[in-house]
Amino acid sequence: MSGEEAKIREELCRIGRKLYERHLTSGAGGSISARTTKNEVLIKPSGFSLADMAPEHVVKLNLKGEVLEGKYPPSSDAPWHLMIYEKRPEVNAIVHAHPPICGGFACAGISLDIPTFTEVIIQIGHIPLMDYATPTTMDYAKIVAESLKGANALLMKNHGAITLGVNLEQAFQRMELLEDFARMILIAKILGGPIPLPPEETYKLRSLESEKWRMKIVEELYK
Ligand SMILES: [Zn+2]
Repeated sequence: MSGEEAKIREELCRIGRKLYERHLTSGAGGSISARTTKNEVLIKPSGFSLADMAPEHVVKLNLKGEVLEGKYPPSSDAPWHLMIYEKRPEVNAIVHAHPPICGGFACAGISLDIPTFTEVIIQIGHIPLMDYATPTTMDYAKIVAESLKGANALLMKNHGAITLGVNLEQAFQRMELLEDFARMILIAKILGGPIPLPPEETYKLRSLESEKWRMKIVEELYK
């Protein structure tokens, strides 16, 4: 195993524990994965809690879904993780969780795609709301990948959320931010309703250079 792969295995476990400790998921819910090469991916094993996953539990797959290494079956979410990597070459990490406030919006069928909070516009951008589909169906992976077209985060009706990143840290930070944002929107709704920024300001925020600098720092810290 390469030193790089060993590092990514450790990173998957570190991020898994953070997701669990911050109540972004519970039980054996949620799944995370990261690319090791263009065509190979490391993913959480099925049935494991993200809190208890150790580097040796992680499953290695190719993009066709064939298990290359691992004692346990891969997460049942693997088909859509692989489909996203297939369609989005710039994505190197995927986090899927069941955060309670995002989940509330997802179960109520209420979109979070409201350009109100500057940090979310800069770091995440568009947040589509995916229609409900039965998670185990063959078409599910296609629906997830299609819904994420041009987006870095997805709210899944009656289910949870997905965030993407160039690395695991970015995908995790986006999930953490998405849950905080859901809490803010909930409070804004109690206080009279969120007030979206005008489209020209949203566009300006999306093209800020600061995000590129921030990502450089994240890459430096976690390489
Ligand atoms: Zn799930």
